[in-house]
Amino acid sequence: MSLESAALARVKPSATLAADAKARELKAQGKDVIGLAAGEPDFDTPDNIKDAAIKAIRDGKTKYTNVDGIPELKEAVCAKFSRENGLSYKPSQVNVSPGGKPVIWNALLATLNPGDEVIVPTPYWVSYWDIVLLAGGAPVALATSAETNFKVRPADLERAITPKTRWIILNSPSNPSGAAYTRAELKALADVLLKHPQVWILTDDMYEHLVFGDFEFSTIAQVEPGLYDRTLTMNGVSKAYAMTGWRIGYAAGPEPLINAMRKVMSQTTSNPASISQYAAVEALNGTQAFIKPNARLFEQRRDLVVAMLNQARGIRCPTPEGAFYVYPSCQELIGRTAPSGKVIASDADFAAELLETEGVAVVHGAAFGLSPHFRISYATANSVLEDACQRIQRFCANVK
Ligand code: PLP
Repeated sequence: MSLESAALARVKPSATLAADAKARELKAQGKDVIGLAAGEPDFDTPDNIKDAAIKAIRDGKTKYTNVDGIPELKEAVCAKFSRENGLSYKPSQVNVSPGGKPVIWNALLATLNPGDEVIVPTPYWVSYWDIVLLAGGAPVALATSAETNFKVRPADLERAITPKTRWIILNSPSNPSGAAYTRAELKALADVLLKHPQVWILTDDMYEHLVFGDFEFSTIAQVEPGLYDRTLTMNGVSKAYAMTGWRIGYAAGPEPLINAMRKVMSQTTSNPASISQYAAVEALNGTQAFIKPNARLFEQRRDLVVAMLNQARGIRCPTPEGAFYVYPSCQELIGRTAPSGKVIASDADFAAELLETEGVAVVHGAAFGLSPHFRISYATANSVLEDACQRIQRFCANVK
């Protein structure tokens, strides 16, 4: 008999965490490996946020809190949505969870019945698909392509919706493609969703602050107020404030949904770490001065990586609007022979051979539901990125 439950047996472990772990393991063995698999900023949590956490410890804020967030943090979340997104929420409409990932889990576990469909545009962040499965729902892939810049076309969305559709998950800017929807593009999707009142929208805005050039970030409940009553607007401090280890994510939406999510938490995790919550209050209410310069830095890295990858033989890399990922195609290398002599039959082979031959760790596209591609996280120093891209160029040049 298998140890794993039937629900868990349907789920894959996170491919991005696995690729990162493999790179760390090889490095620990003394191999010269560049890890471009992990999805976290390379800068440290700002000092004002650390100081707020230290103060919270000294002030004895070390006990259980309200299950879904302290009032101060819910107020800070409401202020953030009002200030940055023009969205008005009351604290009773806010959920704070131990990370963005648990926000999604809490929302889906709270609402899905067996067979309920959740539309997940591809390429998707690895966890959406498996969280839906674990929560007993049925994920439905909605394919995009490089031709539409990895964005969903309204007609394709219309076709994907059925009477069983319960949710659609939007993610802009996207992990893994970096694609971000303009206001007009979101409005076009909203017009489709307005016709289907059974469909709720979970919008994952984790990378809101990482948009480039003159791109302006928008979120769907702001663009179409008619969807406000069935949208969960999700965000977190992990990426914008370099707080991946602190574990705070948050969301706002209709009160009945927020109450149901609290019920899940009350019997599972209880509250997110009290100290992290006080740190997140400072992140949201304190200085935001580093956010724009930080986005400029990521933009320069994007330009460097896109340019160098497009010089690699057989790689095509679109220019994304945001986040810190690129999602190039390795289509032209499929069926050809790697320097090791092995045939590259899939993007998984491409990633494995690249790691083996040149010591560059990337994540293969199949993990994100759209092949043949691979994801590079460019949240690392320019010199490292240059070295990695040169190795990729050399690898591709040696493919026969
Ligand atoms: N959503 C997206 C699109 C992400 O890329 C990530 C992290 O990689 C998360 C959510 C999860 O964030 P957290 O670390 O706060 O759980």
